[in-house]
Amino acid sequence: MTTNDAFSIQNPINKKKLYEISESSNQQIEQAYNTARRMQAVVKNMPMKKRVEEILKINDYVIAHREEIITRIVEETGKSRFDALSSEILEVCDTIDHFKKVAPEILKDKKVHTPIVLMGKKSKVVFEPLGTILIITPWNYPFYQMLLPSISAFLSGNVSIIKPSEITPLKGLIEKIIEESGFLKDAVQVIYGGKETGKILIDAKPDKIHFTGSVATGKKIMEQAAKQLTPVDLELGGKDPAVVFEDVNIERTANGLLWGSFTNCGQSCTSIERVYIQESIYDELVSKLSYNICKLKLSDENRNYFEAGDCDMGCMTSEAQTQIVEAHILDAVQKGAKILAGGKRKPGSLHFPPTLITDVNHTMKIVTEETFGPILPVMKFKTEKEAIQLANDSPYGLSASVWSKDLERAERVAKSIAAGNVSINNCMLTEANPALPFGGIKNSGFGRLKGEWGLLSFVNIKSIIIDKQSSIIEPHWYPHTKNKYGLLTSLIVFLFSRSKKLVKFALVGMKLEKVGAKEKIK
Ligand code: NAD
Repeated sequence: MTTNDAFSIQNPINKKKLYEISESSNQQIEQAYNTARRMQAVVKNMPMKKRVEEILKINDYVIAHREEIITRIVEETGKSRFDALSSEILEVCDTIDHFKKVAPEILKDKKVHTPIVLMGKKSKVVFEPLGTILIITPWNYPFYQMLLPSISAFLSGNVSIIKPSEITPLKGLIEKIIEESGFLKDAVQVIYGGKETGKILIDAKPDKIHFTGSVATGKKIMEQAAKQLTPVDLELGGKDPAVVFEDVNIERTANGLLWGSFTNCGQSCTSIERVYIQESIYDELVSKLSYNICKLKLSDENRNYFEAGDCDMGCMTSEAQTQIVEAHILDAVQKGAKILAGGKRKPGSLHFPPTLITDVNHTMKIVTEETFGPILPVMKFKTEKEAIQLANDSPYGLSASVWSKDLERAERVAKSIAAGNVSINNCMLTEANPALPFGGIKNSGFGRLKGEWGLLSFVNIKSIIIDKQSSIIEPHWYPHTKNKYGLLTSLIVFLFSRSKKLVKFALVGMKLEKVGAKEKIK
C-alpha cells in the first residue's frame, strides 16, 4: 500500500505552519527494515563498552546543543522551555548517565544456582538482543519518548526504527543528532507518517514493538501484532490520583499538586488528574490552591519559546486534545461542578489557563476519563479506607501520589493503590529516577521502561545449562524400570521431606546413578 496523505505540522503557540510530512511508502519501510536487519549483526556483536561509548556521543551532543533542541521541541509542542529542559533533556541525559554505569553489569552473563539433583552441571543466564525494535511514540514528550526506548534497545544490542507522532515528529532532529554526534549510522532510524505508516511497520514483523500512546491505539496495535505473535510493551494513558492526608504541610503540598497537574500543560500520562483531600484540611488546601494558581506565569501567542525559561506553563499541543478538555469541563459543570479558577481559553488560542474545579464526583468524565489538560479536580474523603477505594475506582493504573507526614501510613496506602508507580510526598517522581522501572497496570498497559527491567525488556533471556561430555547415562533417561522408579521415589522423599536425610539421599543417588549406567536400552 502506498499513501501520500500529508500532515501539516504547526507551531501551537502561534499556529504557524512549520512543515509537512506524509505517510511513508511500502518501499521506504522495506528499505528501513533491510538496513535494520543488516545493522543487527553489527550492534549485536559490538562489545558493551563500545555500545556505551556510542550512547555517550548522543549525551554529549544533547548537552552541547540543548538550547537548539529545546527550541525544536517547544515550537512543535508549545510546552514551556523549562518543561522541555526539565523533562526531555534532563531525563535523557540522566538515563544515559545511569545506564552507562549499570548496563554492563545488568546485561552480563549470570551464573545461577543448580540444584543438588542436577549435581555436576552448571547453569547460567545470558541476555541476547531481540533484533529490530519498532518504537511508536506519542506527541507529548516527543524527544524523550523517541530517545529513551531507542537508547535502551541499543544498549541491549538491538537496532530500532522509530515512528514518531504525526503531530510532533521533530522531523530530522534525531537524524541530525546521529549524524553530527558520530553515533553508529543506521542503528536507529526514523520513519515518518501517521497510523497507516504505523500499521505497515507492524506488518513488516519487527522483533518487538515498544508503543507509547493512547489505550485505544494500544489495543489496535496489540491485535495486529498478535497475528504474527510480535511481543509488545504498551505504555498507555493514566488518570493519576493524589491522596492528601490532613497532616501535610499545606504550602508545599499545594505547590506540588499545582506542578503535578499543570506541568507540560497537563499533557503527561502521569499528570495528577484527580485529587482527594482529607476533609479537615479541604477548605484550607483548596483556598491555598486558588491563591497560588493565580500567580502562575502563563505563556501566550507572543511569549514563550522566545523567553529564557521564565514561564510556568506553555500551551496545549493540539486543537483535538483541547476540545476533549473542554468537553470534560462542560460535562462536569452540567453535573454540578464549580470552577474556582481558569476553565476557558481565549477563542482560537491553544493557551488554556490552569483550572481548579470543585464539587466533582465519579459520575463525571473529568474524574473518570483521561483529560490530558491543565485541570485540577478536587474531592473530599474522610477515612484512609475511603481514599484507597476512590483512588482505585478507575480503569487506569499508571501512577499515583500519597501525601502525609506519617510515612508508615503513606507507604501502606501506596501499596494499596493499584498502579505501576507511586510517589510519596511528591509527584511524577518515580519516572525521574532512571533506576526505577516505569510502566502501568490495568488500562495503562504493561511492560517496563528504565531500570534493570527496562533493559531486560529488549532481550531474549536465555537459559543455558552445561553438562560434562561423558559416558554416563542419566538415570531419568530410558529405559524406565521398576528398579529405577523405586530408587527415584526414595531420592525425592529423602531430599524434599521437611527433615532432609542428606546421607540417605547421597547413598540412593549413587545407587540410582549406577543403575542408570547399567540398565541400557535393549
Ligand atoms: P495515539 O495513540 O493517538 O498515537 C500514538 C502513536 O501511535 C502515534 O505515533 C500514531 O501515529 C500511532 N498510531 C495511531 N494509530 C496507529 C495504528 N493503528 N497502528 C500503528 N500506529 C498507530 O496517542 P497520542 O494522542 O499521540 O498520545 C497521547 C496518549 O499517550 C495519552 O493517552 C497518554 O496518556 C499516552 N502516553 C502514555 C505514556 C506512558 O508512558 N504510559 C507516556 C506518554 C503518553
